[in-house]
Amino acid sequence: MNCRFVYLILLVFSYSISNAQYKVTAQDSAVFKQLFNLSLTNGHAYARLGELCKTIGPRISGSDEAEKGVNWAFRMLKSYNFDQVDTQGVMVPRWVRGQKEIVKIKSVYLSKILANSKNRTQLISDIAKSSYSHSPAATFECESYLTAQTKSTTWFQLPAKTLGGSVAGKLEAAVVSITNKNQLDSLGKLGKLKNKIVLLNRPMDEAELNTFKAYGACATQRVLGSNWCSPYGAIAVLVRSVSNKCDLNPHTGSIYYAKDINPIPMAAIATAAADVLHYLSQQDPQLVVSIELDCKFLPDRLSANIMAQTNGTLYPNKIIAFGGHFDSWDVGEGAHDDGAGCMHAFEALRLLKAIGYKPRHTLRCVFWINEENGVRGANEYARRSAALGENHIVAIESDRGGFTPRGFGVDSVLIQLVKAYTPLLNHYGIGQLENGGGGVDIAPLKTVFPNIQLVSFIPDSQRYFDVHHAETDVFESVNKRELELGAAAMAVMIYLIDQSMD
Ligand SMILES: [Zn+2]
Repeated sequence: MNCRFVYLILLVFSYSISNAQYKVTAQDSAVFKQLFNLSLTNGHAYARLGELCKTIGPRISGSDEAEKGVNWAFRMLKSYNFDQVDTQGVMVPRWVRGQKEIVKIKSVYLSKILANSKNRTQLISDIAKSSYSHSPAATFECESYLTAQTKSTTWFQLPAKTLGGSVAGKLEAAVVSITNKNQLDSLGKLGKLKNKIVLLNRPMDEAELNTFKAYGACATQRVLGSNWCSPYGAIAVLVRSVSNKCDLNPHTGSIYYAKDINPIPMAAIATAAADVLHYLSQQDPQLVVSIELDCKFLPDRLSANIMAQTNGTLYPNKIIAFGGHFDSWDVGEGAHDDGAGCMHAFEALRLLKAIGYKPRHTLRCVFWINEENGVRGANEYARRSAALGENHIVAIESDRGGFTPRGFGVDSVLIQLVKAYTPLLNHYGIGQLENGGGGVDIAPLKTVFPNIQLVSFIPDSQRYFDVHHAETDVFESVNKRELELGAAAMAVMIYLIDQSMD
């Protein structure tokens, strides 16, 4: 029985125990150093992510690319001679974007202004002032958008992406721009949204340091927008892209249609385009928006979760699972979201094997399928694990991009333990601990293993939403050292848990 075991038992009965009772051993320091050195000098995460992004690319659930990707991942993991590599079949939904995702505005007002360069300069300045991105970048992006427009036309196309799971539609109507739910409800009750297209234009809170918090507050308008607007008679919803960046890249994402509403088409427009449309909706009473989307659902298709593991020497039936989601949206290359998380997990398993570490528990890397639009992979994984009589003691999820690792969100029992290692974690810049761990793909495990401890990998969050769900989430947006450091951070966390828990 090692000292960490005693420490954990004490913690279970008394959370007030002093962290000073625990001492980091020379072995701990040596293992941390080995894992970080190896990841930085001969890491494999970046090279494998490059293969995934450049030979497979985007991998939306149910697509041919996702299936090619599953085969690639299985072969890739097999080549490392882990104790076991498996796939686990699961039926996934198959939503197809189609060829048309056109959002256009008709504005004689804009056309007249663009014909005169002085007026155009004034317009750009006015848009920047009225926008929610009160920054020089907003001015620049609006200017680049407006300058690119043909001045002789009255129809202007906005950079748009159909939101995942949307119904198709072809329609034309006036637009109402709205920034919060109260405003929407007041206008809706007055009948002002009837037969209108609604622009849900709430921006991310730039003052919020944790961009995931700002995202969470804003993403509801994307996920629930149709349910909010359809009952008031709106005929379509445009959503300001949920991104910190003011640019011309639209960001897709999931939506949810409540069963009791009439589902209406939904598309995201780029943040700079939302600024332009919001301004025009206030200034041009004749403004018309035209939307044409030809997305559709095809029948569900068989796909798979992919797993690789090193068997435990002492507790082979107690599993520490760690992973990310293998599917992505059908834009960009799913590099940060969540190729990076999958590569963190694979590389953590490889690093521990490469230094000759013999784990006490079974270490299992999992690439879950269908996180973005269904979570069928994670649900099936949890269901099947319980049915097989397995026992998961900890699950770690990496789904926040491949940026510089900062720390972890950790469940209640484990956090006391991890806190004791803070000096060592701080040495590697990963000592930021938050109360409570979790993630979309590990949450279902909690329902079948109530005592499981969940851990979220936390990297720096400042750039993630610049590329999240957009064409710009490509391999080139990932930094090699940052990605490899993330894998090492995951490996040391697995090592600590493996050593400390029984
Ligand atoms: Zn993700």
